[in-house]
Formats: sequence, structure tokens, C-alpha cells
Amino acid sequence: MTTDPLLAEIDRRRDDLVALTRDLIAIPTVNPPGDHYREICDYLHARLSPRFPEIELVRAEGAPGDSDRHPRWNLIARRPGADPGDTVHFNSHHDVVETGSGWTTDPFGGEVRDDRIYGRGSCDMKGGLATSIIAAEVFADLSPDYPGAIEISATADEETGGYGGVAYLAERGYFSPERVQHVIIPEPLNKNRICLGHRGVWWAEIETFGRIAHGSMPFLGDSAIRHMAALLGEIEATLYPALANRETAMPVVPPLARQSTLNINSIHGGQPEPEAGYTGFPAPVVAHSARIVIDRRYLIEETPAAVRQEVVDMLEKLKAERPGFSCELRDLWTIPPTMTARDAPIVTAVGKAIGSVLGLAPEYVVSPGTYDQKHIDRIGRLHNCIAYGPGILDLAHQPDEYVGIGDMLDSAKVMALTLDNLLNRS
Ligand SMILES: [Zn+2]
Repeated sequence: MTTDPLLAEIDRRRDDLVALTRDLIAIPTVNPPGDHYREICDYLHARLSPRFPEIELVRAEGAPGDSDRHPRWNLIARRPGADPGDTVHFNSHHDVVETGSGWTTDPFGGEVRDDRIYGRGSCDMKGGLATSIIAAEVFADLSPDYPGAIEISATADEETGGYGGVAYLAERGYFSPERVQHVIIPEPLNKNRICLGHRGVWWAEIETFGRIAHGSMPFLGDSAIRHMAALLGEIEATLYPALANRETAMPVVPPLARQSTLNINSIHGGQPEPEAGYTGFPAPVVAHSARIVIDRRYLIEETPAAVRQEVVDMLEKLKAERPGFSCELRDLWTIPPTMTARDAPIVTAVGKAIGSVLGLAPEYVVSPGTYDQKHIDRIGRLHNCIAYGPGILDLAHQPDEYVGIGDMLDSAKVMALTLDNLLNRS
């Protein structure tokens, strides 16, 4: 039994939390292509307007993916307190990934069973969005005279890079030190975990070149696929062992992601795939081009320049050793790693609240992949930012995704106490 009125009130709003989560799941904001974004923003506008007097709907016009058919709508709600002070911002993405196959429940039905709510986005991250709304509403109702401000945003396109969502808003000052001081992203990291940041990313395409010739006389040409095979051999023989030997001090989960990693996302070589319906044979030609896309995830101990140079060196070595080897390296995308300090105010406040609600010490983690913190950190220059929310990360993007109702209630309590710690007691 709790004696804290904030916590008791959250328990009383269980049905509201469940209904809100189910309503959000029922709006199928599937991305790509980015369906029903306006609808979910309108729903949230109606929900939040009794307590949040300042609400803006912002379309990320011209952002990747934005079109009149699929406009990238975002919502930012602000509730100023009684006096000036810090702003605490809860940022959730409202998009979800496709359903895929293997479901035993309706992906948009929000079925409630055994203290769980099922549906696409229940865990990633409409459950977290609903949890932060209940926490903010309860705090505002019980402690209306707080100093500072509370903000809640529901943003587009996190699943496809966040350029029509948080990145767009950060470029326009919605995430900036002048406006916001503390950020919680309620991604499903588990109710006792504070996620401090993420590893870095470098995506690049490497193309090897050859010379086309008749396939019956390959010696008259030069096979780009064989050159690519040599590169893949070099990656296996030297790069993978080197990466596996590098270990970070970042508390990445799962622990296997504490080393540097490289995935080869795709490989294409030789003639293109035939058009659908073509029933003939392929032509006998020596491949004049082969391409791979690499996805290199790197550690805070590594620099982006060194990560790139390591691959350049490997290509130079092949050029020197292998007759005819020529290639091109094209950078596609890069995001530096980020990790919020453990003594940052948001980390301390959430950690204390986890202790009060769960009776546990918080676990500090770092994500193997990036999420919207990358834009808040880099474009928004806000380094007092974490991910904290209910749900089990492994269920994200899976069939029969669910979020635990008890976990959402516990996380809502942590979030409400965090508001109390940051706004009333600072
Ligand atoms: Zn997510």
C-alpha cells in the first residue's frame, strides 16, 4: 500500500490508461508509408486540450516521406506551470512498423488478456506514450501549482529515421536548451532501466568494378564479383576479428553488442534481376559491377574518422595486392554515438523515482541501435536526455506484440515522481 497520493491516483486511473492505450493502437499509423498521422494527432489534441493549453500540430513539410497523401504530422503539447522553471518533455513516436505475419490477435484490436494489451505498437511505443500522458495528467491534477512546464510530443517517422519528426522539430527549436531542459523518451526499455544513449552508426556502399566479357571466356574480362569476394574474404579474415576484440565501457544491452559490429545489409552483382514475368535464361556475362551496403555500429571509444579509415585501409591493401582491383566507397549515413552522463539531472531524478516505486536500484543501459535521442542530442543540443518506458524491447516489431498493464502503471508512477523530483523539489 502506498501513501503517496500521486501513486495512489495512478492506480485509480488504470481503466483510463488501458482505454487510452487501446485507442492509440486502434489508429493504424503504419510506417512506411505513414498512415493516419493526422488522425492520431487530432485524437491526442482532443485528449490533451483540457490540461494542455498550448498545443501545436506541425507538419514536416518537405521532409523525406512527406506528401499530401502521407503528410508527416507531429503534435507538441505544453502545459506551463504557475511560475517560471524547467521544462520536462516526454517525447514518443506515434508511428509503428508493418504488422507482418504470425499474429494470433487483431494487430489493431488492442485485445486485453492476462494483464497485457496486445497490438502493433503496444510496446513500441503507444503504451509508453499513454503512460507518459497519464503520469503528466495525474501530476498536473494533484500538483497544479508546480513551477516550470510539462511538454508531451507525439512525433512521426522514428521507425524510418525521424527526419519527418524529431529532427524536423529540433531544427525549428522545439527541442533546444532555450525551451526544454529535461527529456524522457518512453521507448520500451523496461520499467527498471534507464537508457543513456546509443552506439554510433556508419552506413556505406562499396562498389567493385570489373570488365564485361562473354561468360564462356571469363579470362577476357575481369569479374567484379570475384573482386567483391576478395573484399568479403578480407572482411572475414581481418575486420571481423578486429571488431570482436574491441569492447566498450558503454553498458550496451544485449552484452554481445558491447563490441563493434558490422552487418552486410545487401549484396548485388552482375546483371540485374530479370523483370517479373521474364521466362528466358540469363545471359552469360562477366560481372562489371558488384555492390555491398555495410552497416557499421561503433563505440564511444572510436571516432567516426577511424571507423571509416579502417575500411579505406582495407580497400587500399586490396588495390595494392590484387591485380585489377578498383572500387568506390560511398558514405550513406552517419550518426555519432551518444551517452548521457550518469549524474545528469534527468538520470538522477528517474533513478530516485525507480527506487521509490520499485524498491530497486536502476539498471543503466545503452541501446545497440539509434532512436530519436540522436536528433535531440545533436540537432537540439540537449544532452540531458534518456529513454525510459514500460515494455520489453525484444517484443518490438514482433507478431503478438504486447505491453504489460502493471508495467505501465509502475512506469507512470516513476514518471509522475520524476516530475515531482524535477519541478517541485529542485
Ligand atoms: Zn520505438
